[in-house]
Amino acid sequence: MHPTAQPTVIVVGAGPAGLTTAIALSRHGVRTLVVERRTALSPFPRATGINLRTMELMRAWGLEAAIRSGAIDVKPTAWVGRTLASPEGAEAPMGFPSAEVAASISPTTGAIAPQDHLEPVLMQHLLSLPGTSVRLGAEVIALDQDRDAVTVTLREGDETSTVRAAYVIGADGAHSTVRRQAGIAMQGPGELGAYLAVLFRAPLADIVGERRHGLYLLMRQGPPWVFLPTDRHDRWVFSMTWDPTRETRADYPPERLVELIRAGAGVPDLETEIVWTGDFAFTAQIADRYRERRVFLIGDAAHRMTPRGATGMNTAIHDGYDLGWKLGWVLSGWADESLLDSFEAERRPVGLRNMQRSANGSEQRDVSLDYLDDIADRIPHRWLADGRTSTLDLLGDGLTMLAGPGAHVSPAPSHAVPITQQRVDRATAEALGIGADGVVLVRADGRPVARWVASADTTSVSLAVEAAVRGTTDAGLPQAA
Ligand SMILES: Cc1cc2nc3c(=O)[nH]c(=O)nc-3n(C[C@H](O)[C@H](O)[C@H](O)COP(=O)(O)OP(=O)(O)OC[C@H]3O[C@@H](n4cnc5c(N)ncnc54)[C@H](O)[C@@H]3O)c2cc1C
Repeated sequence: MHPTAQPTVIVVGAGPAGLTTAIALSRHGVRTLVVERRTALSPFPRATGINLRTMELMRAWGLEAAIRSGAIDVKPTAWVGRTLASPEGAEAPMGFPSAEVAASISPTTGAIAPQDHLEPVLMQHLLSLPGTSVRLGAEVIALDQDRDAVTVTLREGDETSTVRAAYVIGADGAHSTVRRQAGIAMQGPGELGAYLAVLFRAPLADIVGERRHGLYLLMRQGPPWVFLPTDRHDRWVFSMTWDPTRETRADYPPERLVELIRAGAGVPDLETEIVWTGDFAFTAQIADRYRERRVFLIGDAAHRMTPRGATGMNTAIHDGYDLGWKLGWVLSGWADESLLDSFEAERRPVGLRNMQRSANGSEQRDVSLDYLDDIADRIPHRWLADGRTSTLDLLGDGLTMLAGPGAHVSPAPSHAVPITQQRVDRATAEALGIGADGVVLVRADGRPVARWVASADTTSVSLAVEAAVRGTTDAGLPQAA
């Protein structure tokens, strides 16, 4: 064993959660080491629904175009029918707003793009930032924390080594070693069904024609079959329930899978190439807690969701962003350590809600307005007079004071966290809920900390800033009337 150079934060796992948190940390100049046990990113499409709030975060990092370059040209809705070829069926929501609604609430829209496109975009961006190193083929096998740091034991091939860091972030997925090593238990319903997943190639775009959707649910006896387009050409996923207590994978040889896919497609001679077959369980569980002293959990390591509602990856990304900027503030000396307590306080209720929703097997649950939950805590989007800049674009990495045209704003008090001031026009001020003379103090993630309807005097601004850097946004702070 030999020790290696000391990073400040070790991120375990280079999935969507780990890559997002590493980017957020790197933007704050935090020396970060990402360790990933695979030798390359996963080649499987997995999640395809990138939701509205995720795209807002990606847009803020300048990654929107890169993500859209791999997006599939389909409506972000589901199609519920009998076969892919059959014109009979109905559209159903996938939890994305329509393009018209999205245009009124956000500077961007969600996208249907596979995870094996998104992850390389995130990785490339991460590697373009200073201060981060990525070690592929490095598996964390043990953690040991003392008062000052965490010692991580890594296995790379036949070699083991140790690395110490002030904090460790477990972004190592559903079977998290970090979670186990930190002694954090999971709770919740557990396994809710066994599914087969088949990645295949077939010219199904020709079959669905104009009915181009992000997801197809084919109604049969028992749970529906699922077909998912996963690239711009002919790569699809087919998924159905099976019974591993009575069947084995040998019962599903490629010839049988081809027959099932042809039956789902409604095309008996469909040209089909099986690329990969696997099985997985629908699982709904959440970690008892998201933190054990210097160790944090994000993404699937903190919560396991079934694919219903398509929230697993999006919740993972939102966790990663939240912890990344908060740890960035603390390690930059901008905020108190107590800001880190707000990570679990703010993110675990979201994980719990999304986990519970995903466990709900009822076909009836209406997901059409779910996107509102992700944007409920941020300031509203509104285009400024130039038609190109959103209110969300005004936010900096620190705190931002948005002031109406008539507001009197005392000079920003001197605090470690940078505070930028932005003047907005009357209509924007109204939209922000402050009126022409008001001021709102906003965190980097868009969450308002305090509002003043008239003048914002130095003392009350100072109190609000102190609350923000402690992670509290209430406690007697001025609020809009
Ligand atoms: C077949 C399949 C289909 C899915 N479909 C959907 C979907 O339609 N919609 C949806 O929202 N979600 C879906 N998901 C779930 C989605 O992929 C996950 O929610 C998402 O990937 C979670 O991101 P994460 O970064 O938390 O974890 P992961 O993506 O699992 O990343 C964890 C990373 O940690 C690495 N790692 C693990 N242990 C260690 C260790 N000890 N040391 C170092 N590295 C380690 C892993 O190799 C992996 O790269 C699907 C998942 C699968 C498997």
